[in-house]
Amino acid sequence: MNVLILTDLEGISGVSSITDIFETETPGYKNALVRLMADTNTAVRAAFDEGAETVYVVDGHGGGKNFIEGALDPRAVQISVSGNPEVIRNCDAVVAIGMHAMAGTQRAFLDHTQSSKTIHHYRYNGERIGELSQIGVYAGHFDVPCVAVSGDVAACAEARALFGENVAIAVVKEANVRNTAICVDNVTADQRIYDAVAEGIRKRDTVKPLVPTLPLEIAVEYNTTALCDDICRVKPYVERVDGYTVRALKEKIETYYDVLL
Ligand SMILES: [Zn+2]
Repeated sequence: MNVLILTDLEGISGVSSITDIFETETPGYKNALVRLMADTNTAVRAAFDEGAETVYVVDGHGGGKNFIEGALDPRAVQISVSGNPEVIRNCDAVVAIGMHAMAGTQRAFLDHTQSSKTIHHYRYNGERIGELSQIGVYAGHFDVPCVAVSGDVAACAEARALFGENVAIAVVKEANVRNTAICVDNVTADQRIYDAVAEGIRKRDTVKPLVPTLPLEIAVEYNTTALCDDICRVKPYVERVDGYTVRALKEKIETYYDVLL
């Protein structure tokens, strides 16, 4: 049994303010990276305790250079999700650590889909989706379920709505407004993440993979018409729908890029 752990930063325990993510010289940012390693290593430990043979880990936030060198549990294999399309076929379960809700969700800590600076909404076959859907569809296409999710209340609610009641969740914070949240203490967060990952892996057969219907129509509504102009220039395969929106039809899913525009 192999497990793929995907990580993001917004939904990591102890990260309570937008400045903890963007102001890289602050103690809050340094703490965010320490907690990223703590949450990730807790998930790795739970996966091995449940009998995983190989645990793959992706440093998924931003450009993927967040992990503190030498701090990842040495038993885990760090990969990039886009550069290793064969890994997902060998996995039995996906775990998402440090997640946030989709763009447009109220009382969701740092809600966005891919980029809050450029993207207003992402849609799959007409439905608004977020990064949890992107993870779920990528894994689901290869018949792999997303079995456990950690993050704020809104991200965990989105996970339940997408993956069903049997996805195990670890709530580590609740947003009071978009840019700030109240976090549970670190000991509670560790315990919730450990329990959710262990439970999710144990019950992985009860969680349905999010199998997409192909072709997958991906539409993206940008924040400005200029951003939309730029995308049309760099991605000639997209079709302009209106001033703000482009779409593309993905006939097959082979790599993680295929679930993005
Ligand atoms: Zn992120």
